Amino acid sequence: LRAQTETAAPVVDCHAHYIPDSLITALRGGQQFPRIELHTAGEELRFSFPGLGISPPAPAQISRLADFSSWMDRNGIDVQILSPWTDLLGYTLDEAEACAWVSHLNDAMISAVSGTNRFATLAGIPLPYPNAAVAEIRRARQAGHVGVVIGTAIPGAELDDPRLEPVWAELARTGVPALLHPIFLTPDPRLKPHGLANAVGRAHETTIALSRLLLSGVLARHPGLQMITTHGGGTLPFLLRRLQRAHELSPGSSPPAETFRRLHVDSVVLDPRVLAALLTITDSSRMLLGSDYPFPWEPDPVGLIGLVPDASQAAGAILGGNACALFGLPTRSASENRPGQRKPENVR
Ligand SMILES: [Zn+2]
Repeated sequence: LRAQTETAAPVVDCHAHYIPDSLITALRGGQQFPRIELHTAGEELRFSFPGLGISPPAPAQISRLADFSSWMDRNGIDVQILSPWTDLLGYTLDEAEACAWVSHLNDAMISAVSGTNRFATLAGIPLPYPNAAVAEIRRARQAGHVGVVIGTAIPGAELDDPRLEPVWAELARTGVPALLHPIFLTPDPRLKPHGLANAVGRAHETTIALSRLLLSGVLARHPGLQMITTHGGGTLPFLLRRLQRAHELSPGSSPPAETFRRLHVDSVVLDPRVLAALLTITDSSRMLLGSDYPFPWEPDPVGLIGLVPDASQAAGAILGGNACALFGLPTRSASENRPGQRKPENVR
C-alpha cells in the first residue's frame, strides 16, 4: 500500500479534532466567555455550555499539535484536516456570544497551524443563526480555512429546517466542503452505560440528520453542496434501502439513494467488512481517509484501507487524492512532506 502511494498524492486524514491551546488559556481566564466553563480532571478536558451538561472528556493531546505530528508520522499520514471538536461549536449560546466565540475559535485554529504544511483547518459556524453563519463561512474562507464543520442538529430543530436554507445555498454556491459531524444536544439516558453514547449515539445522530437532509430534498435542491459524512455515514448506508422505501411510501419526499452517492463519506468504520460494503453503496471517488484522532477509535486508519481489495485498488484516491481535489490541497509527492516513514510491520 505504501509503495502505491509513495509517488501519488499526500496521505490526508480528513477527520481529526483539535482544540487550540490559546483557546483553553482564554477559557481558564474566565472573563472573555463567562458562560463557557472549562473543567479539568487529570489530563482530560471537559467543557460546559449554557443549557447543556458537561461535555464528554477530550484527551489532553487534543491541544498538543506536536502529538498530532508524531502520531501522523507513526501512521503514515502527511496532512491532517483539523476540525474544532463539535462539542465546542457553541450552538446553545445566544447570537452575539455564539458569533464572538466561533470567530475566536476559528482565528485560534488558523494561527495555531500557520507556518506548517501538515495541517489544514475547518471552521465552526454559528449554524443556529443563519445570516451570521453565512457571514462566518465567507470570513473563514478568506482566513484560509478549507471548509466548515456542521453539527447534526441545532437546538430545537433539525438540519432540514427551512431557516437553514441560506446556509446550504451559500455552501453550494461556493463549493466550500462541509463536514457533517455528530453533536449531542439531546443526550439519550439509555445510551449512558458502556460508552454507548459514542459507539451508537454518534452514528444515530448522523443517521437521523442525513435521513432528514435526504428525504426533505435539501441535498437534492443543492447539488453543489460538498457534504462529507463522518463515521462512514453512521448507520445510514445500511438503512438506505429502507429509506428509499420510506420515500416511495411518503408523497412529497425526495428520493435518497442517488443523492446519497453524491455525498463524500469518511472511512472511520473500523471494520474492513463494513468498508467493503460501503464501497458497494458509494463510489471510491467519494471516500476519504479519516481517523477521529485523538479519540482512540481507529487504531490503524491507513492499514484499514489496505485490507479491503476494492479500497486498495483505489488507495491513492481514498488516502489523499480525493481529499486534495475536494479541499484544494497541493498534490505534492508524499515523500516531500513526511519527515518520518512508516515501518512496514506496522501495516496490519
Ligand atoms: Zn469526530
